Amino acid sequence: MAAQVTPMPRSVCVVGGGIAGAGTAYALPEDVEVSVLESRSVGGRLASRRREGCVYDHGADHLRLADDDRAELVKAVVGDTLIEIPEPIHQFEADGTITDRPDEFTRWSGENGIDGIVWAVLEAAGADVEEGATVTGLACDDGEWVVSTGRDSRRFDAIVLATPAAATAVLLEAANWDAPVRRRLADVAADVPHQPVDVVALHYPFELDVSYYGLVSVERASDVVWLGRQECKPGHVPDGESLLTVQLGTLWSAANAGARPQETALEVAHRVAPLVGDDRLREPDWWDHHRWGRGLPSGGPEASLCDRTLEYDLAVAGDWVAGVGQAHAALDSGLAAGRKLAEQFGLEPVV
Ligand SMILES: Cc1cc2nc3c(=O)[nH]c(=O)nc-3n(C[C@H](O)[C@H](O)[C@H](O)COP(=O)(O)OP(=O)(O)OC[C@H]3O[C@@H](n4cnc5c(N)ncnc54)[C@H](O)[C@@H]3O)c2cc1C
Repeated sequence: MAAQVTPMPRSVCVVGGGIAGAGTAYALPEDVEVSVLESRSVGGRLASRRREGCVYDHGADHLRLADDDRAELVKAVVGDTLIEIPEPIHQFEADGTITDRPDEFTRWSGENGIDGIVWAVLEAAGADVEEGATVTGLACDDGEWVVSTGRDSRRFDAIVLATPAAATAVLLEAANWDAPVRRRLADVAADVPHQPVDVVALHYPFELDVSYYGLVSVERASDVVWLGRQECKPGHVPDGESLLTVQLGTLWSAANAGARPQETALEVAHRVAPLVGDDRLREPDWWDHHRWGRGLPSGGPEASLCDRTLEYDLAVAGDWVAGVGQAHAALDSGLAAGRKLAEQFGLEPVV
């Protein structure tokens, strides 16, 4: 009888704890030890803040799950803390006219914030997660990857860069890794165009009398491009209150790059009031502002370029790899990276 071969334990470092990094960790089989190093907090641009009993998603407003397989996977992994947003999205014209919009997607957030979706995927993956761990150096040494943070250096069998394009470019640029694909991928990542996005949150101590969850502009060049009512997400806002998150258009963000957050917030409140048709919205009782300097990528590398890194046990993942700034595309990109690495190890991927 042939002796049973026990697979060697493998170790993978996933750099970046956004939805792409979580997808990668999930797709890798149990025999693989996965360490996720995240420079800030898990979730990345699936970001949530908490204040005065409210939760608001100030990066991606919701996760769209149009694909049945992906929806089943996310529902199974995230479980009861995945919340569906039942109200519809309407659209508005430049003159403020609001109309219904064909609704082809179900939209989701997490019960305690959209970042909870990323945490749930990482927990299901059994990954070892470290927040506040910025990777500052990479070296390919004797068939292993040496990953340095400000605190220490560790060795791994493989590495996944699930970082935004600009961070990936910087890491590859400086990496001690002698392969022609390093420079090519670093250049391509550095050149991915990104749009800045300003997001303002406006809180009110009263309810709004409207039927929609979100309003989206039909004009791409409009100042306000999206308004989301966080109170439509079960568990996010106490009864009797309203919390709007408003995304500003690229042109507005570029033209107002130096504006003070308070000016931005109050200007947004004055734009939102006539749009929703409620004058009380001019005076929020509190507000918040966040600028995503490189919020949304448009375009990305050719898939074949990314696949060329696999022979070095390195993979890249993220929305910029998918070529579109959408969370489900980032998740798919992460799942694909995990799957490809598993196959590289001769192991069966989880999905
Ligand atoms: C304002 C805004 C609204 C959006 N709205 C939607 C929406 O409604 N629906 C939708 O589907 N998508 C939306 N998106 C897009 C969506 O948020 C992104 O496509 C998705 O979150 C990208 O995931 P990611 O894992 O690729 O990257 P990220 O979420 O950016 O994760 C990458 C992680 O890498 C970490 N990192 C970077 N450098 C290092 C380093 N050196 N060491 C360690 N860690 C590092 C970062 O801190 C970050 O957490 C929106 C984006 C923005 C900005």
